[in-house]
Amino acid sequence: MSEIYLDHAATTPLRPEVLEAMLPYFNQEFGNPSSVYGAGRRAHQALDQARDTVADLLGAKSEEIIFTSGGSEAANLAIKGVAWAYQTKGKHIITSAIEHHAVLDAVLWLKQQGFEVTILPVDEEGFVDPQSVQEALRGDTILVSIMHANNEVGTIQPIEDIGAIVRAHGAFFHTDAVQTAGILDLDVAELNVDLLSLSAHKFYGPKGVGALYVRKGVRLDPLIHGGAQEKRRRAGTENVAGIVGLAKAFELAQAERGEVTRHLIQLRDQLLQGLQAIPHTKVNGSLERRLPNNVNVCFQFIEGESLLLNLDLKGIAGSSGSACTSGSLDPSHVLLAMGLSHEIAHGSLRLTLGRENTQDQVTYVLEEIPIIVERLRAMSPLYNA
Ligand SMILES: *Cc1c(COP(=O)(O)O)cnc(C)c1O
Repeated sequence: MSEIYLDHAATTPLRPEVLEAMLPYFNQEFGNPSSVYGAGRRAHQALDQARDTVADLLGAKSEEIIFTSGGSEAANLAIKGVAWAYQTKGKHIITSAIEHHAVLDAVLWLKQQGFEVTILPVDEEGFVDPQSVQEALRGDTILVSIMHANNEVGTIQPIEDIGAIVRAHGAFFHTDAVQTAGILDLDVAELNVDLLSLSAHKFYGPKGVGALYVRKGVRLDPLIHGGAQEKRRRAGTENVAGIVGLAKAFELAQAERGEVTRHLIQLRDQLLQGLQAIPHTKVNGSLERRLPNNVNVCFQFIEGESLLLNLDLKGIAGSSGSACTSGSLDPSHVLLAMGLSHEIAHGSLRLTLGRENTQDQVTYVLEEIPIIVERLRAMSPLYNA
């Protein structure tokens, strides 16, 4: 059996239609978009078109979209860019304990530079309470950054409510929507956000390209200085093929969203149900407000890493904690923030579905996992004690 890929929160395969849209911009339409002659103008047109597409899909204006090298850069630009541009107005930033490291580490770095930071806790399902945002806001708060949905446990935050609170206070609101772009409907007006980050490789586009929505009127200091690209907010010759790919992938994802969501939810619920039947198993995250493709469980008495290796031997690709933390033995900061003990958090398994997964694959996975869990537990001194 070929590999069953269940790690779509880490990255997704590039769609053939996307590759096809990108190809001409590597060697035929290779002009520099800043050049005045025909080849440059055609590359510039491709950029304009991609920007219009992305803006349309977000309910934004074209000049509000900045292309970046991915989700991490978009989040860094949003956070550091606003912090630097508004530091004379205030130096207080609010975020949550379950953010992706691209957000969390950018905020902690600013703290080292003299900014003041409040990191909000989450409840046992991974929710940020909008009331806690209200209470944390101060006269000198310039920015709040709360992710749309969590990449590990799939909990979808009440972003609209948090956004309304932040807006009424007069601070700016950024959301990391890397896990929701292409999966949930994103409308920047409905979400009440001023800045929003997304990344192409999480929705079947290429790696190394992302976008940041910045509401008109919000000033940003650039991270990268040099040329006048992206209205002086991000210097460097644009990744034209990548940007074309991002727009194409986003467009396809949006067009097929209803159908794909139904498929994902069906497979997700089947997995959740099957895994919950294994004794001493806990589902992490919310069952009501959850990404349609996310399954995250803890099996007591076993190590997530050994589970992953055993799954790999059976041709199943999953994840324990997040891709960024595997390789170290630290349990996920997200699961710890949700109140799980170190021991339990170590036994976590994340399976994230994609459009190409099938019912047969899920059936196979549900046959294999209980056997592996049972075998690992039989070897565990904790289980036998
Ligand atoms: C993947 C991811 C990122 C980082 O995006 P890159 O394009 O890989 O830099 C940021 N936030 C979340 C929630 C993610 O899942």
